[in-house]
Amino acid sequence: MKPSPLHEPLLDEDVLRPTHVEVDLDALEHNLRAIRARVGPSEVMPILKANAYGHGLVPVARRMEALGVPCIGLAFLEEGIRLRRAGVRTPILVLGGVLGDQIPLFLQHDLMLAASSVDKLLLIEQHAAEQGIRARVHLKVDTGMERIGIHWYHADRLLEASLRCAHVDVVGIFSHLAQSDERDPSFTRLQLERFEEVLSFYEKRSLPTPTRHLANSGAILGHPTTWLDQVRPGLILYGVWPSDLRVDLDLRPALRWVSRVVYFKVVEPGAGVSYGSTWAPERQTRIVTIPVGYGDGYPRSLSNRGQVLIRGKRYPIVGRVCMDQIMVDIGWDSAWNGDEVVLLGTDEHGHRISTEEIADWAGTIPWEILTNINTRVQRVTRG
Ligand SMILES: *Cc1c(COP(=O)(O)O)cnc(C)c1O
Repeated sequence: MKPSPLHEPLLDEDVLRPTHVEVDLDALEHNLRAIRARVGPSEVMPILKANAYGHGLVPVARRMEALGVPCIGLAFLEEGIRLRRAGVRTPILVLGGVLGDQIPLFLQHDLMLAASSVDKLLLIEQHAAEQGIRARVHLKVDTGMERIGIHWYHADRLLEASLRCAHVDVVGIFSHLAQSDERDPSFTRLQLERFEEVLSFYEKRSLPTPTRHLANSGAILGHPTTWLDQVRPGLILYGVWPSDLRVDLDLRPALRWVSRVVYFKVVEPGAGVSYGSTWAPERQTRIVTIPVGYGDGYPRSLSNRGQVLIRGKRYPIVGRVCMDQIMVDIGWDSAWNGDEVVLLGTDEHGHRISTEEIADWAGTIPWEILTNINTRVQRVTRG
């Protein structure tokens, strides 16, 4: 039965929502170039997991491809399949752990995967042999993160096994740093030493060393000895600093999260605002409501803590953050329905609320703020 025209949507519902995220692809390009200039001749493998840290996987990947990156790093198989379906041809490495039944999908979509144990390597070899093709893998060595990867003190077993796999090309070898953004460099140095010890396997046998990569954002900023052949920036690619350590690198935040005033009211002294009535004004005040909440990934911990920008001024969130709404005290200032509200990013007057600042208010890290902005919030890309 043909649906009646009455049931067809008249408007794209995404366009109706006043709350959205704007992503500046030129800022990402700028950051990639800045990182390249810093680490050269090491190459840059941008990390696009978790919806490109909330920035939108496909448009960010397309821009990175246009910039000729050697490889895109992801966390999960399904992210890689999404990029292949979107027509992205650049090599892709899925950094995370792999389950046996996923291996055929990696091979089918030409995705590189992490061989993180001898068992997993042999499974990959078996699947590739069955299909009569060659799998491209990066060996994953654990040098102190105690997450996935073969321990550095057993890594020879994995490297040796890989030499006997006729259907596996070892394209890269990598490890991950646990403390690269901390002030004390000693654990990062120890992890690098352990990794170098593992890598000496190739030199001892006069074999070519696969592409070596180790450095995340913290290490790109603070530990040049870890840059090796490629670096893997996530957070700094998006223009956000991993800690309060600053170096001479011009990073541009690429994301703006905005909404609009949807309601205005005057609240009397003592009248509690929002769930639990945790806040009430001492004198008559003006309260505006913004249609965004923890159901969008705006942290509930910003209740009575966060701030937003309206008409070039910062105002406090009062009362609890709701699932779909927040209330803001504008004192005796003016604001109208439809006024832009900046939750994160820069307003038209050049005032800014940074991801780092929101993370501080929320008692968490900037990574979590960005990756929690969920799919209910539409992404609009510029540049
Ligand atoms: C997420 C991730 C990165 C990027 O980390 P940032 O600190 O955001 O730069 C690099 N390598 C691996 C293995 C990762 O999982």
